[in-house]
Amino acid sequence: MQTITVFRGDGIGPEITDAVLEILDAAGAKFNYEIFDVGEAVYQKTGEFIPQKGLDSFDKTKVLLKSPITTPIGKGFRSLNVTLRNKYDLWANIRPAKSNPCLDTLFKNIDIVTFRENTEDLYVGKEEVIDDNTVIAYKIITKKASRRIIKAAFEYAIAHDRKKVTCVHKANILKKTDGLFLSIFEAIAKDYPQIESNSLIVDNTCMQLVMHPQQFDVMVMPNLYGDIISDLTSGLIGGLGLLPSCNKGDTHAMYEAVHGSAPDIAGKGIANPTALLLSSCMMLEDLGQQKTSAAIRKAIDAVFTDKTCLTPDLGGHASTKQFVQSIIDHL
Ligand code: NAD
Repeated sequence: MQTITVFRGDGIGPEITDAVLEILDAAGAKFNYEIFDVGEAVYQKTGEFIPQKGLDSFDKTKVLLKSPITTPIGKGFRSLNVTLRNKYDLWANIRPAKSNPCLDTLFKNIDIVTFRENTEDLYVGKEEVIDDNTVIAYKIITKKASRRIIKAAFEYAIAHDRKKVTCVHKANILKKTDGLFLSIFEAIAKDYPQIESNSLIVDNTCMQLVMHPQQFDVMVMPNLYGDIISDLTSGLIGGLGLLPSCNKGDTHAMYEAVHGSAPDIAGKGIANPTALLLSSCMMLEDLGQQKTSAAIRKAIDAVFTDKTCLTPDLGGHASTKQFVQSIIDHL
């Protein structure tokens, strides 16, 4: 049987991990888990943010289900999430935002998949203090990384019967870096004449997304815009509690919710585990367990339709535990 690695994260991480593992077990998912605590609390006890045994496990299993990990703002260590993405060259961050007709959202029929380049741009984290007045940050864009993420977006469009791929950039100002990304997009788009393609400047994209989101289908962009735009798409479908993701490389894959560790609600037992649960559905599908994934997706739809057991972020009063039980009851 396949073994997968699980990092429980911190903040709401442990609560939603336990919730998701309970549902996966109840749904009959077929794999063994190797589970590890990670983050600041582990560092205080062991001197390691991610235990070496956890990394050894991911080296071996090549599949990681990961809960959010807190990153200090403006000081302290580099994001462990960014570190993991770079260490395993998880170059494609795929974030599908699909609205559920039963939830009260501003728009219906949203179905947008964001392809975020995951290894470079400003996230290389190279900043230098020049003098008392000046700090610089490096924005790195390479042909290799741009090509593979843009190609992956078009290949996904073909494989999933999508109609259009939109490139998001700021090449009017960042003529060399985003200019390179855009020129590669335009060249690759020519190889896919059956897919409509267009490009939009990132600021206009934000306005278009909140006014006419249904025009978007697959979107591809450098790292920073992908981080921001995908949170925006989560807002269109009901919030961060609902947006899953997969970080894929050539050999390894990491599945995680798009949201962070939500310190404002950690420990209250009210976190919505849906984003991590849907991430685990993406994992199940990649592992060939389509039936189990479909059963979980159907149960989520049933709970959303029923509306009596929604967590507070979705306007309800249910605890995480009640939500989990309701999903299990609908399996
Ligand atoms: P956040 O995503 O943790 O929270 C933003 C808002 O959304 C909060 O009000 C929170 O309560 C709500 N929210 C998020 N997930 C929810 C859920 N599952 N159920 C209900 N409500 C939910 O963003 P933040 O507060 O800016 O970041 C907190 C920490 O998380 C930071 O240290 C940040 O660096 C880290 N972070 C980690 C990841 C990751 O591990 N991949 C991603 C983003 C942020």
